[in-house]
Amino acid sequence: MEIIFLGSGGGRWTTLTQKLRTGGIRFHAEKQVHLDPGPGAIVNLAQAGISALRTDAVFVTHSHPDHYNDAEILVEAMTRGMRTTRGTFAGSRSAVEGVKDIGPVLSQYHASKVARLVTLEPGMRVSVDGLSIKALPTKHSDPTNVGLSFAFEEGVIAYTSDTEYFPGIEEGYAEARVLIINVIRPSNRRIPWHLCTEDVIKILHEVKPELAILNHFGMTMIDIADREAEHVAKKTGVKTIAAKDFMRIVVGEDIKLLREVQ
Ligand SMILES: [Zn+2]
Repeated sequence: MEIIFLGSGGGRWTTLTQKLRTGGIRFHAEKQVHLDPGPGAIVNLAQAGISALRTDAVFVTHSHPDHYNDAEILVEAMTRGMRTTRGTFAGSRSAVEGVKDIGPVLSQYHASKVARLVTLEPGMRVSVDGLSIKALPTKHSDPTNVGLSFAFEEGVIAYTSDTEYFPGIEEGYAEARVLIINVIRPSNRRIPWHLCTEDVIKILHEVKPELAILNHFGMTMIDIADREAEHVAKKTGVKTIAAKDFMRIVVGEDIKLLREVQ
């Protein structure tokens, strides 16, 4: 299977300036999954030469625009221009149903054409077209946010989504071959609701994926993400890289990195 980063940026200012792209992550296996389609997802798909129409499922971990902005347009693609009812839309309660003043992220019109709508609660397992997925707990300003763990044939790919560190956070990542970690700030410069590099080191002392990928960089991470990744690798012994826009990772027996910067 293949992991394609349609953006490595995150947080309000990186998103508003588009210093890094924010189109989310694709998983291409038997089915094609789009995870957290932030602003630019549809543009980045076109630039990467990927047909949005081949999307089978869209996951939105929470109701912040850097994670959901292009969800409706992805649903339009998934439903072949709203002409058929097909595909899965799965997300946090805020994303699927709406909670207080945030969400839902799809209009009733868009939701009506999705074959399966799934509200994900932490700890819950779902199967989408034979792919088993577990929703993981987080600690984020959208309290219904979920991390995700996808059990592909080639192994488990886990994604922290946005969260701050909390005791036990590592449990959800224990099986992961590849762990994608949203780390918005470097070193110990933590802000509420998010991970910084020091938190990542703590997590990777407990779990040992084959590859850790730092992702979702705020402004202070943009120029130093590679250095932060090297530092994490040195401290933990876990192979760690910083995501790049349009980076592709092929997960087979080995994990191969193809850097495609466009
Ligand atoms: Zn975010």
